[in-house]
Amino acid sequence: MKIPYFFETDMPTNIRKEYLDSKEFKEDLILQNIRRVKLLAIIIIAIEMIFLLIDIISCFLKVNKSFSFYSYMVMYLIMIAINLTYLLLIENFCQKRISLRAMDTLTVVFLTLIMIWGSVISLMDQKLYGHLMTYMVNMIVCSIIYFIDAKRMIIPYLTSTLILAIGLPFFQNSSNIIIGHYLNMTVFVVISWTASRIIYRNYCDNYVIKQLMNQSNLLLEKEIEENKIINKKLKNINAQLKKLALLDELTGLLNRRGFREFIDRMLQNKSELILSVIMIDVDNFKLYNDSYGHEKGDLTLIEVAKQINSLIENTEQIAIRWGGEEFIYAAFNKSQEDIIKIANSIRLKVMNLEIPNERSSTSLYITISLGTCTGTLVSAKDISGIIDTADQALYLAKSNGRNCVATLTYNKPSDV
Ligand code: GH3
Ligand code: MG
Ligand code: MG
Repeated sequence: MKIPYFFETDMPTNIRKEYLDSKEFKEDLILQNIRRVKLLAIIIIAIEMIFLLIDIISCFLKVNKSFSFYSYMVMYLIMIAINLTYLLLIENFCQKRISLRAMDTLTVVFLTLIMIWGSVISLMDQKLYGHLMTYMVNMIVCSIIYFIDAKRMIIPYLTSTLILAIGLPFFQNSSNIIIGHYLNMTVFVVISWTASRIIYRNYCDNYVIKQLMNQSNLLLEKEIEENKIINKKLKNINAQLKKLALLDELTGLLNRRGFREFIDRMLQNKSELILSVIMIDVDNFKLYNDSYGHEKGDLTLIEVAKQINSLIENTEQIAIRWGGEEFIYAAFNKSQEDIIKIANSIRLKVMNLEIPNERSSTSLYITISLGTCTGTLVSAKDISGIIDTADQALYLAKSNGRNCVATLTYNKPSDV
């Protein structure tokens, strides 16, 4: 297994470069830095205020005669002033009085000043403790807080380190300590620089990953939206297909499947219902077709269907094309007398259409024969029982000379 070096990336370099060269990235970086530095400036002001207070109290109490309270006091005040100025600049930037680019340059200047300040304090410290703590703390804090590219990071690093390196022989008397400081500074600058590079690179990688994820999220969202539309369309088409599958193409009435669905719907949550069926058949229709043609025959079937459908009053009633020139009018919760009345109304309505059927043995016009049956519906068996009985009644009407209504009673199989 090969572990890649930290600076190696498995991201295609051209994609990475494209994102990191973009205006959006640069703006995002500057704004991020301003946000972080603002917090740092507030913290520094608070710390320096405490130091200043301690310095004033110590000076007042004359704690140490050799300690230069005033020089440190001036330094603390300079630091507070630098940070306050930076906060003021941020405020101006928020008011759009300073451009983003200018604010970026000012942030680098601020960073440089803080690091130089650290070097000056460290030089002053040589007279007292002889260490480089402030220089180091400021350098590491700035390296961690800022996301800054290597080119611009050189400015604060170089200025602060040069000031310290050149100033050390003037402030530190021991040559051994000076050599130690130079060694420590070198190691520290390398470590701090590496940390700064790792943090900056991580920020860049995170930015690119975030953008790539945003892009794929957008694509996914678009795809989901498209799928939703397709699903909706499919649902509509399915609903239409389902509707069409239940309808008779010629007359627009429900077909046998539609009838079954109607019965199922009616039987839901109801254990017992009274079902009436009127079986309707056009008289001498073969002769009609032979005399006037099949097309005319179709138109006549449409007219007959309209008449049957015109007697539907509510959702408990239904008109069906049973097949060929046969229709069914079915109704729930109607008495036998009412059904016979409805059957006669349908018969008269069709006859009153006065569609000529000259070769018919029954009438000069198109007529229909009807067989009715009313029965209690308990199980599925009863449905076919009632339909069969209505069919037998229709046969009776045909034998009675057609163009009439006949009624038979449905005998449940258990009653037999
Ligand atoms: P009956 O009075 O005994 O019912 O005599 P009929 O001639 O009506 O009965 P038959 O069963 O002998 O003929 C039915 C005719 O209905 C035969 C067929 O051509 C016609 N038919 C069935 N379906 C259609 C259709 O969709 N369109 C047309 N135009 N004719 C149809
Ligand atoms: Mg028939
Ligand atoms: Mg017929």
